[in-house]
Amino acid sequence: MIILGVESTAHTFGIGVISEKGEILANVKDMFTSKGGLIPDEVVEHHQKVAEVVLEKAFKQGKVSWSDIDFIAYSAGPGLDPALWVGYHKVKAWAKEHGKKLVGVNHCCAHLSIGKMFNKLDDPCYLYVSGVNTQIVVEEDGKYRVMGETLDLGLGNMLDKFGRIVKIGFPAGPEIEKLALKGKYVDLPYVVKGMDVSFSGILTKVEQLLDKGISKEDLCFSMQETCFAMLAEVVERAMAHTGKNELLLVGGVGANKRLCEMLDIMCKERGAKFFKVPMDLAGDQGAMIAWEGYLRQKEFGDVEVRPHWRVDED
Ligand code: AMP
Ligand code: MG
Repeated sequence: MIILGVESTAHTFGIGVISEKGEILANVKDMFTSKGGLIPDEVVEHHQKVAEVVLEKAFKQGKVSWSDIDFIAYSAGPGLDPALWVGYHKVKAWAKEHGKKLVGVNHCCAHLSIGKMFNKLDDPCYLYVSGVNTQIVVEEDGKYRVMGETLDLGLGNMLDKFGRIVKIGFPAGPEIEKLALKGKYVDLPYVVKGMDVSFSGILTKVEQLLDKGISKEDLCFSMQETCFAMLAEVVERAMAHTGKNELLLVGGVGANKRLCEMLDIMCKERGAKFFKVPMDLAGDQGAMIAWEGYLRQKEFGDVEVRPHWRVDED
């Protein structure tokens, strides 16, 4: 069986081709970039423009054609409404033209399942930290359970908002990581509520300190130390509570070496193992959508778009 997966929830239009064994035959993407953030009309225009080219490249890379494809999986949500619709209309047209079934999947679940498949894990505790999402998730009776999450901003979005204030460009995470290497610690609020975290108050405090003349290097270092320690604490609590001894980090913020180091130390100290995903599977792409489609083919069909679909919802 060969599945085509189409991603279009936000900045990236991506197409992946995967076999039922989890062999990634192709994974091609084209990312919208701008100075002003994700402007919906421009994102739609971008996805419309690149869709056929990305498809062509994916077929070429995977040495496949429409006749090899068993069905089309697409990311139905969560995501930016106009970006989801442009992707949906594309897959709908392709499905009709080539007589293929559609399987709409959850983008967040796809991030988790590709990481689990890649690392050959059995039953991990997931830490999913992207732009919009910050969640600690486990599997229970074949369903995802959110053990803890941000009560306001996703950590990536918080870092990007800071980036906009100090004009270090988007995405800000990588630059913040570099600046942090030259910083020292200043006190910031540490906001853990049970197994949930909150970042917006920290950002406000950081803005106030910036106005008082604290350097951006010190603020980058302190933001990282504080926010990552908060995550390590709640993840450890979730692991202790559920008895899971594997931790899998997914999402763009997972690229951060200091975050990985802190989670790795926490895992070692409790006799657990820490895993992450390679960069080409960490960000948004079509291969994860194809794999999630393979796993969920009996569960979902054409579900149109679901902009607010949570991982713990059917
Ligand atoms: P995603 O939504 O999964 O594509 O992740 C994008 C987010 O990851 C953005 O908010 C980036 O700022 C953030 N990010 C990327 N690289 C790093 C890094 N090295 N450190 C911290 N955050 C990062
Ligand atoms: Mg994503």
